[in-house]
Amino acid sequence: MTVNIDWNNLGFEYMNLPYRYISYWKDGQWDDGKLTDNNMLTINESSPILHYGQGAFEGLKAYRTKSGKVQLFRVDRNAKRMQNSADKLLMPQVPVDKFIDAAKQVAKANEEYVPPYGTGATLYLRPILIGIGENIGVSPAKEYLFTIFAMPVGSYFKGGMVPTKFLVADNFDRAAHFGTGGAKVGGNYAASLQAGKYAHEHGYGDAIYLDPIHHEYLEEVGSANFFGITKDGKRLLTPKSPSILPSVTKYSILDLAKTRFGLETEETQISIHDLDQFSEAGACGTAAVITPIKSITYGDDEYTFGDGEIGPMTQKIYDELTGIQFGDVKAPEGWIFPID
Ligand SMILES: *Cc1c(COP(=O)(O)O)cnc(C)c1O
Repeated sequence: MTVNIDWNNLGFEYMNLPYRYISYWKDGQWDDGKLTDNNMLTINESSPILHYGQGAFEGLKAYRTKSGKVQLFRVDRNAKRMQNSADKLLMPQVPVDKFIDAAKQVAKANEEYVPPYGTGATLYLRPILIGIGENIGVSPAKEYLFTIFAMPVGSYFKGGMVPTKFLVADNFDRAAHFGTGGAKVGGNYAASLQAGKYAHEHGYGDAIYLDPIHHEYLEEVGSANFFGITKDGKRLLTPKSPSILPSVTKYSILDLAKTRFGLETEETQISIHDLDQFSEAGACGTAAVITPIKSITYGDDEYTFGDGEIGPMTQKIYDELTGIQFGDVKAPEGWIFPID
């Protein structure tokens, strides 16, 4: 390591690394794309991303293994999800191979910034796809830009995973069933700021969203997916809804719970009135991996999971997942992408 960074005290902050990848789409095709040291984008003032939010993003990490190699986790899933987001907003798809190649190039070019094994820190990659060019009317852009930049980020939880209290945001919706909830688009995040602020101001880690129609069934925990483990310890359940963003972490957890720990897994509607079926619960996503849920407050009621500490199955799943990501545990076929 030649760069001077305090790897053990990284947060989640932007850092201007030496290289990022950038590619443009025009006249029906993508250019070859290239690495650049320029961290500023110059786009037309009428670009649809600026006015009408025609843009999508992704988030994934590069991990340093014990042997010093660098690997990506299920980057093909992020590539496919960005294609789905592109379809939703009438943007051209970035080919899966192009996306994977770009992610590898960025991790490799900034390899000195992939944190050392053992710190829990990683290199976070942020791909974005945005509509640009002259286009002030409400119609799809005629030009697009795809870029991936990176920054080292800390292990989300300094002294281990911290069980966190959440508040049901009953006066807010994040997304509508037939809207953009299932796509990773910035507007969903803008729409979640108020509820997040409300939850933080009241002493909670984040807001929990209920389904936008009945305001009864669980959707997302802040910008993470929910899972719960039933009191008999046999089942792992996660909410089903078209306005939940399909989390790569969530599907990885469902897979591991089933194949490695023998749990039954199911995506199903979970009523806010049925929380007492669970002894453990968590919120999952790339940034935080797993945040154990200590309690959920709904109106005057507060439901605490188990004894409010990290549950044994949550801990096992966390260890298995991070073990795979950092190369200590054998990965299911096709989950790991070495950067060479
Ligand atoms: C990105 C995201 C997640 C987590 O997805 P991962 O693929 O696990 O990182 C969950 N919910 C929302 C709203 C998201 O944007």
